[in-house]
Amino acid sequence: MLTKVRLPAEKRIEVVHVSLMRDPKFALFAGLFMVGKITIVESEHYTASTNGRDAKYGRTFVDSLTDKELAFLIMHENMHKCYRHLTTWRKLWEVNAGIANNACDFVINIQLHDMDPQETCLAFPRDKTTGQRIGCFDERFRGMDAKQVFDILMEEGGDEGEDGDEGDGPSGDKDSDEGGNGTKRKGFGKFPTLDEHEWEDAQNGMTEDEKKQLERDIDQVLRQGGIYAGKVGGNIPREIGELLKPKIDWRAVLHRFVRTSLKDRDSASWRKAHKNFLWQDVILPSILGKRMKWLVIGMDTSGSIQGQLLTDFLSEMNGCLASVGADRVDVIYWDAEVAGHETYKGNTKNIVHKTNPKGGGGTDPDVVVDFMQEKRMTPDALIMLSDGHMRTNKQKWAAIKAPTLWCILGNDKYEVPNGQKLVIR
Ligand SMILES: [Zn+2]
Repeated sequence: MLTKVRLPAEKRIEVVHVSLMRDPKFALFAGLFMVGKITIVESEHYTASTNGRDAKYGRTFVDSLTDKELAFLIMHENMHKCYRHLTTWRKLWEVNAGIANNACDFVINIQLHDMDPQETCLAFPRDKTTGQRIGCFDERFRGMDAKQVFDILMEEGGDEGEDGDEGDGPSGDKDSDEGGNGTKRKGFGKFPTLDEHEWEDAQNGMTEDEKKQLERDIDQVLRQGGIYAGKVGGNIPREIGELLKPKIDWRAVLHRFVRTSLKDRDSASWRKAHKNFLWQDVILPSILGKRMKWLVIGMDTSGSIQGQLLTDFLSEMNGCLASVGADRVDVIYWDAEVAGHETYKGNTKNIVHKTNPKGGGGTDPDVVVDFMQEKRMTPDALIMLSDGHMRTNKQKWAAIKAPTLWCILGNDKYEVPNGQKLVIR
């Protein structure tokens, strides 16, 4: 089973990263492992630590762990990164460092336990002699965030027993480089922790630009990871799903879009039929309550829309479809020409996991008009997604009868050839 000669810590960490990435349960985190750098610390009593970007692992400690325990430790550090604990909860750390440390770990460890309760990939590191878990674990904190756990721990008496470190957060933290193996350390709260949290380094060890970049990187790798996890059949824990909610309230946007579109198109004839203007209050809302029958999404996959932008598009599209619930959705990928076309009927939720974006060339949205005419597409609505760095032929777009919403990422100067414009950040 286990070979006698262990690979060095550096290599084992790499191997564990790869096996976690391949497992649908952890595919979500695939990109996160690549954020920041990894250092092996030679100190004998060092377990692990993170500043929210980089991770450090103690060689002796890693050597003492089984592969599954090491996977747990690696996931633990990456969950701190994922939740941006060291910036989000800095205020708690300033109030009480020990309890803040404990609270963050209670949150992570119960989630890791629940992601793999049978311990097929991850096993909570245990003390080899006592069999006790090394680190904070309590089932009552299931589903809570660090603030909720913090409040409970504070109410239950703070980190009494820690001399002189109460209430003054930052003190006594830097000297704790020699983190013990599940032993009680100064500034580390009542409960032994698995690792150290470098709050000071998270605050002062990075420039403001680096912090912003880190925030963007983590957001992006999780969004990409979410799409990838969907494709390989993995699920996304609710807590992390919260972080990945679309940035736009699609329900509101689309309702406004449909309402104004219908009004523009039909108001004259409707007014004739309903002289008392009842339609405004009664009939229109009932129309809006209906499902959309056919939606076409024209997605810009030109060279300028790669990486982060395409990821943003896909997650916005998913939010849009979850809200609309259309009977049929056509996705047209376009760059200088139509590069791909997909049709979804029936359950259009989560189609983002089935999509296969194609493209990469120049930018010419007019090809969507030709394509729709050629395929005789007459949808209820058309949504175009693009960064808006292009030209469009206004006359050509007059042929599109469907209400059109242009979602433009970034470039608010772009003038849409028809329909409405929504500038996204
Ligand atoms: Zn931790």
